[in-house]
Formats: sequence, structure tokens, C-alpha cells
Amino acid sequence: MIDESGVEEVYRRLSEAMPGRTKGAKGPKGQPDAFRSCISCMLSAQSLDRNTAAATRALFALATTPEDMLALSDEQVARAIKPCGLYNVKARNIRKFCETLLALHGGVVPDTREGLLSLPGIGRKCADIVLSFTFGKDVIAVDTHVHRVCNRIGLTEAKTADRTAQQLEERSPEWAMRDGHFWLIQFGKQVCKARTPRCATCPVNDLCEFYGGVAGREAS
Ligand code: SF4
Repeated sequence: MIDESGVEEVYRRLSEAMPGRTKGAKGPKGQPDAFRSCISCMLSAQSLDRNTAAATRALFALATTPEDMLALSDEQVARAIKPCGLYNVKARNIRKFCETLLALHGGVVPDTREGLLSLPGIGRKCADIVLSFTFGKDVIAVDTHVHRVCNRIGLTEAKTADRTAQQLEERSPEWAMRDGHFWLIQFGKQVCKARTPRCATCPVNDLCEFYGGVAGREAS
């Protein structure tokens, strides 16, 4: 892993190269409240963005609260969310999520990681995305792009996204916690792409462990 001053410098350069959080950003996939953000996040597992969007549109046309969602049958929910795949499992998870949300939290989505993780179907990634986007907390949510970028550069050294999230929390400067997710995700989509990273023109290539190793050797 790169050292503390290297971490600071990576964030400084990404903050200049990538735009930050836009004002008034909504929850995951543009959802307007925490309940819909959680469901949207659950539906996005192993699903393309456009399929998740189609599923959420159809589902939220039927229900937008835990009570209304529980009034639907699993078959109705499964039919609505069919575009996002694994729809029978996801329909059952939505039911368990709504039941637990009502039983433990009176139907109100909690704004803490611990509270969110108490809900079936919500893992660390979903919890952090909802905390960051919906509740505006200073949390770096780790999706596939953030996980890849962090471990290539050497901000973290982790095999799982959850472990990457833990290490980022320990190693990131406080000033980078608010917009870090946005810088890293956009950097992953535009520059440090999964198959074709643009290492030669990358603004942090002199700090990057991947470029100093495999990619750098291939380039020379
Ligand atoms: S040098 Fe290459 S691998 Fe390293 S962060 Fe930049 S684009 Fe990614």
C-alpha cells in the first residue's frame, strides 16, 4: 500500500481532475427517499443500470411504502421487478426487508450503518451508498469501480469490497470523505477502466502501484 502522504496526494489530484458531488444529489439511481433507495440498491445486485431502472419504475408504480409493499403478493412484486433478474429471490428479500423495517424501526429507514445493516438484504455497500447519497453522510461507498481503483493504486490492499471500505475509512483524510466516492467512481469509469486503464495519461500514474508494477513493465 502507498504511504499516508501518497494517499493524501492521490485524493488531492483526483479532487482536481474529477468533479465532486453535485448539490441536491438524490439516492441510489435517483430515488427520492431512503426506503426507495434501499429497495433500488437491493434490486441493482447483478443487474445492469437500465434493467434496475425498469424494475424500480414498475415496482414503485405499485407501492412506495413498506406497508403498501407488504400488501402486494410476492408474485406481483416478482412480476414488476422481472427485468433485474433473480426476481423471485429479490421479491422474497423485499418482503423480509419491509417486515423487519416495520418491526424494528417503525417503518423509518435508520440513518446509521448499524441500523441499516440490521435490515435483511442490506449489506455494507448498500448501507454506505444510502448513508452517502440519501443521508448526506461523509462515507466512501465502495462499488466495483471504487474497489478496483483503490487496490490498483494501493490506497488499499483488499480482496473484498467490504474490506476495501474498512481500509478506506481508516486511511482516507477527513477532508476527502465527503466527495471521495464521487472522485473514485468517476475516475474508475473514465480513466482507470477495468479492461483498458489509461495509465499513460493518468494523473496519479507516478504514485500508482499497478503502473509501477505490471502496467509499467508492459508499457516499457
Ligand atoms: S496508472 Fe493506470 S492502473 Fe494506475 S490508477 Fe492510473 S489508470 Fe489506474
